[in-house]
Amino acid sequence: MSADGTILGVGTPNDMSHWTDTVRDDRFADKVLMPGFVEGHAHLMEGSIWEYTYLGHFGRIAPDGHHWPGVGTTEALISRLQECASVAPEGPVVGWGFDPLFVPGERLTRQHLDQVSQERPVIVFHSNMHLITANSVAMDLAGYGCGTDLPGVIRNTDGSLHGELHEMGAMFPVMRRIGTSFRQLTGGRDAIWNFARSACRTGVTTSTDLLNELGDDAVDELRSVTGEESFPLRLVPMLSAMSMPTAQLTDRAKVLAARSTDRLRLGGVKIVTDGSIQGFTAQMKTPGYYRGKAQGIWNIAPDALRTMATYLNRAGIQMHIHVNGDAASLAAIEALEAALSEHYLPDHRHTLQHCQMADQAQLRRAAALGCCVNFFANHLYYFGDKHHDITMGPERANRMNPCRSALDLGLPLAIHSDAPVTPLGPLFTAWCAVNRLTDSGRRLGAPERITLDEALHAITLGAAFTLKLDGEVGSIEVGKRADFAVLEDDPYEMGGEALKDVGVWGTVSGGRAIEAGSF
Ligand SMILES: [Zn+2]
Repeated sequence: MSADGTILGVGTPNDMSHWTDTVRDDRFADKVLMPGFVEGHAHLMEGSIWEYTYLGHFGRIAPDGHHWPGVGTTEALISRLQECASVAPEGPVVGWGFDPLFVPGERLTRQHLDQVSQERPVIVFHSNMHLITANSVAMDLAGYGCGTDLPGVIRNTDGSLHGELHEMGAMFPVMRRIGTSFRQLTGGRDAIWNFARSACRTGVTTSTDLLNELGDDAVDELRSVTGEESFPLRLVPMLSAMSMPTAQLTDRAKVLAARSTDRLRLGGVKIVTDGSIQGFTAQMKTPGYYRGKAQGIWNIAPDALRTMATYLNRAGIQMHIHVNGDAASLAAIEALEAALSEHYLPDHRHTLQHCQMADQAQLRRAAALGCCVNFFANHLYYFGDKHHDITMGPERANRMNPCRSALDLGLPLAIHSDAPVTPLGPLFTAWCAVNRLTDSGRRLGAPERITLDEALHAITLGAAFTLKLDGEVGSIEVGKRADFAVLEDDPYEMGGEALKDVGVWGTVSGGRAIEAGSF
């Protein structure tokens, strides 16, 4: 490779011999080099959220390598929060990663969290980050009471506040009052470095930060941290469409694009339409949820989405659109159809993110529009049983995240973790797409499995394509960036069924080798 970190040649030592000034380096003779993995849907929050207390069902590894065991009961959750409250005797108590579907008995309420503190605000982010449960003090701080009439502020049958808050409109007033915000969680030098630590552990050399308000200060900080010589990751943050009026978004996206550097790529926009399936806030077509009468919540309603998509597409700006339920994916497809009918944009690569419930007809329309899909393959394992038994029922759970169908229709495919919603780890994500096994070992929709080759493509060149970076990263080719995942095992020797067990030594970023856990 060259001094500026690009690949000069690929082949035998003999093939390289005509390059003068090269030095033979055998340090990875017993390792396997793959193109650095590309995570097409994650959040910088994976680096910062660990300042709060982890309350998830599954055990989880923090960026510093610490293993946090899962939390199985409401009592265990309360005592972990009490412990955290006693360590820091002031200020709000905040937990994250909680998922009520995994906790037996009564769903977590305001009163449960009042047991942690009746003087300090206590809030718990659900694993999907689309729901919060808050204690009474936190509800009071936001002014929520008997008279509150705001969508997403959940009530008990007697009209009293339950404690659960669904989606941004209901969550933000509480978050603001206790001094936590998604903006704060996506910034800070430590958070950005922590994210890079998790990336290195999992072989990731390029990652999105798929929702960022990207104010001037945040961009200055991102440029400064990613510009540090030893920073081992290319970051692709996307401007949140909710951060300003639609008419201003296009100008802002263009200003940001001009501020891109080698390790920081700006210019794309992220739009969040509905919520999450396991939170029952995703927008589903008839017949809706398998159990329960939830209707879903729009963060951006179809009419507003259509206006926004038209503006952005006309300005040539790439959109990444969060759609979980099939009513949301339909709304996004219709909005893009209208936008692209009004203004032809060649090679737009507008990407449907998550797109978990899109049916065959929707996939055909997305393919006809030239869209990309980035499926949430990790859901098959982490939430597959819940989707089968509770949210979607067997038939629709079996066709979730239909990778095989997408490839057969010629849709450019990526797969993702949405970290911190599920752990960062492209090899695990690829294992999910190859095997479609749930946590209990049930196989969901075997016909939608893809091959090992196809899955490895989806976590490298496939994801790079959705970010318009396929000319620079995602494969080992002359002239591309010297970004590699350094593996302890050969995925082809291990086979698709053992893909999640392939060891990761670390990464090479721009020609510089970095061992996991060494920084
Ligand atoms: Zn996300």
